Amino acid sequence: MNQKTFHIYNLDYNELTEQLTTLGELEFRAKQVWEWLYKKYVTEFAEMRNLPKSLIEKLENRAVIHSATIASEQHSGDGQTKKILFQLPDGQYIETVLMRYDKRRTLCISTQAGCAMGCVFCATGQMGFFRNLTVGEIVAQVLYFAHELAQMDEHLTNIVMMGMGEPLHNYNNTLLAIDRLTDETSFNLGARKITISTVGLVPAIRRYADEQRQTPLAISLHAATDEERDKLIPINHRWPIADLMDACRYYIEKTGRRLTFEWALISGENDTIEQARALGNLLRGMLCHVNLIPLNPTAGYGGGPSSKERVEAFMAELSHYGVSSTVRVRRGIDIQAGCGQLRDRVVSNQ
Ligand code: SAH
Ligand code: SF4
Repeated sequence: MNQKTFHIYNLDYNELTEQLTTLGELEFRAKQVWEWLYKKYVTEFAEMRNLPKSLIEKLENRAVIHSATIASEQHSGDGQTKKILFQLPDGQYIETVLMRYDKRRTLCISTQAGCAMGCVFCATGQMGFFRNLTVGEIVAQVLYFAHELAQMDEHLTNIVMMGMGEPLHNYNNTLLAIDRLTDETSFNLGARKITISTVGLVPAIRRYADEQRQTPLAISLHAATDEERDKLIPINHRWPIADLMDACRYYIEKTGRRLTFEWALISGENDTIEQARALGNLLRGMLCHVNLIPLNPTAGYGGGPSSKERVEAFMAELSHYGVSSTVRVRRGIDIQAGCGQLRDRVVSNQ
């Protein structure tokens, strides 16, 4: 490969057209290439059968489709979850997890290599921040799995931005990737089928609300008092709960959409009746839903998941405030499918 190499998923349609015309090709070739990439998910230029050989060669010499390599691949014992650790050309690692559940095929994708937010219970937070992913690197995770599923006559039904990184800390690339994935002429997934999960970057939540998009938002709350949240989520010092809740109400007002709050239940930490009551008071009357996830233990944090009894008591308390909640099944625990956990294992064994 030479200097001219470009990552083709980083180009939007106009940029691709421009590249191809610069290479002396007619404009309609862009549409053909685009369809191979976003409708057929080909992984090699040679598979683009309606292109002349000369163009395939030009593309092979100048561009790459998938620039990441697979560093590790794991399947859960029940075969329903598959996790890939991709290595990017500069050596960084990111994780992508496919979860099968009934007819759903949900892909959990990364938006950054590492994360700057430092949440104490999170494997990605424990490793620190390396860099933002490009639009192409975000989109490539989806197209890789779309290709794999297509071989089995299956397709992705949902995407959650709950892999490595804080999506709203990589705001522009995340939203450009969503545009690409939802565009009819591209991957054409419904905007409502993608969930952005954020730790609570207040200005970015307000900005996102102003855009009035269809793509749902989930807020990683995890604690209902500043005293508790400060311990778990350092960014809470900067944007405490009152500011975050203001931004959440602003989002609901602007979009009319229901918000999801994520809550990792940590035994003896944030699973107390006091926290459930504080949460009930915080969310009472709000257009929202709470997802409870028993903590996935990580190497750098001593906490463990709450018992079934504690989870049930927490839910029951919330229901007294009219706040609906569900317990999310922990999928792929046996393959460290939690955020950042696979990279940890691979890197620490190198
Ligand atoms: N940075 C974003 C999205 C990636 S993390 C965010 O924080 O929302 C996706 C979700 O996994 C978040 O709700 C996060 O709090 C949660 N999470 C991280 N580590 C976890 C763990 N060890 N156990 C359970 N949930 C965890
Ligand atoms: Fe970053 Fe989300 Fe992990 Fe917090 S939970 S460190 S924001 S990836």
